[in-house]
Amino acid sequence: MLKRFDVVIAGAGPAGLSCAEQLQDTGLSVLLLDENREFRAKPCAGGLTPLAGLPELQDGTRLFERQSIYLNSRRFEFRSEIPVRTVSRVALAEHLAGRIRNAANIEFLKGAALEEVRGDEVHTSRGVFQFGKLVGADGSQSRVRRCLGLPFRLALALYCEIPAAADEISVHFRPASIRSGYLWKFPHRDCLNTGIGFDPARLKTPQAKEILARFIGEQGLHASGLRLKGGPLNYCYAGFRFGQVFLAGDAAGMVSKPTGEGISFALISGREIGRKILNPEYPMPELKQALKLKKRQEIAGSLMEKYPAISAAFLYSVLFSLRWDFVRNRLSRL
Ligand SMILES: Cc1cc2nc3c(=O)[nH]c(=O)nc-3n(C[C@H](O)[C@H](O)[C@H](O)COP(=O)(O)OP(=O)(O)OC[C@H]3O[C@@H](n4cnc5c(N)ncnc54)[C@H](O)[C@@H]3O)c2cc1C
Repeated sequence: MLKRFDVVIAGAGPAGLSCAEQLQDTGLSVLLLDENREFRAKPCAGGLTPLAGLPELQDGTRLFERQSIYLNSRRFEFRSEIPVRTVSRVALAEHLAGRIRNAANIEFLKGAALEEVRGDEVHTSRGVFQFGKLVGADGSQSRVRRCLGLPFRLALALYCEIPAAADEISVHFRPASIRSGYLWKFPHRDCLNTGIGFDPARLKTPQAKEILARFIGEQGLHASGLRLKGGPLNYCYAGFRFGQVFLAGDAAGMVSKPTGEGISFALISGREIGRKILNPEYPMPELKQALKLKKRQEIAGSLMEKYPAISAAFLYSVLFSLRWDFVRNRLSRL
């Protein structure tokens, strides 16, 4: 007899953990599985906006009330009512996992890689399990998404963790060379995460590496001998429900392509799917709003790609103010 769970969640990143949190202490049996045995620092710049409404996280974070946006050499300053943070991904994962630590109905199976979905079974490196519902929260190269036969569209991001200090978050647009992608400097407690996000259909990886190396030099920073890290971001949203299978976070293509923001979208989609599983009539207002925001940002981003010279400054301010409108609206309704 196979062990059966009402809900199997594949992937214990922000999407999977926030989904599990919604399902804790309910009558449902939940299996949360992850291919890793421990929380590792996922390749990420660790910029966390207030979109997801994450409560105070004390360790491993820095708060910033303003962000500098550079369009070529022109600087624009954005102040936010709620600070933006940089966060250690390990600290974030531990914080989210801490919220479900005592849930008696959730079994957390580590070191179990999902290999295949066959009917109502998940085949993993640690055995086969039956599910009532399956949540694919297994990231940008999701196995669950692949089993559903859905397409992927991937942006790329590369970065170095430079042992240097800085007081502000900065984002640097150079539309003539990076189109709608951007360079960033995100100060963390122990390093300056400096990188580039780009569309590989418009900029080849070797060129992106060169642009990043030049940028690091221009900023008076030194990265020689440091490892270049990076990874893909799936922004191809094609729905969140496919029969008894749900997709959340990067697996669902929730990343906003022009900003590269994915953590908040993963948290929102994970918890909305948890609520939907508990109540099939739940209308998912947060997910709908997040998808609207992503769509509007992506329209602004594609205009930036089409008309880089004339409209980038305006469009980027739209991109950012859209986000703050969204946060303001959410706050006014709380
Ligand atoms: C270089 C880079 C920089 C980024 N910077 C930012 C940023 O500054 N701010 C921001 O908001 N977003 C950023 N993102 C995007 C952000 O990292 C993701 O959107 C976010 O992590 C998505 O969360 P998730 O839970 O959907 O997926 P993930 O965080 O990828 O979690 C997926 C989990 O599934 C597990 N898993 C994968 N495959 C399997 C399998 N087959 N079986 C079992 N488990 C599996 C993994 O171990 C992992 O724990 C960045 C991404 C990259 C690549």
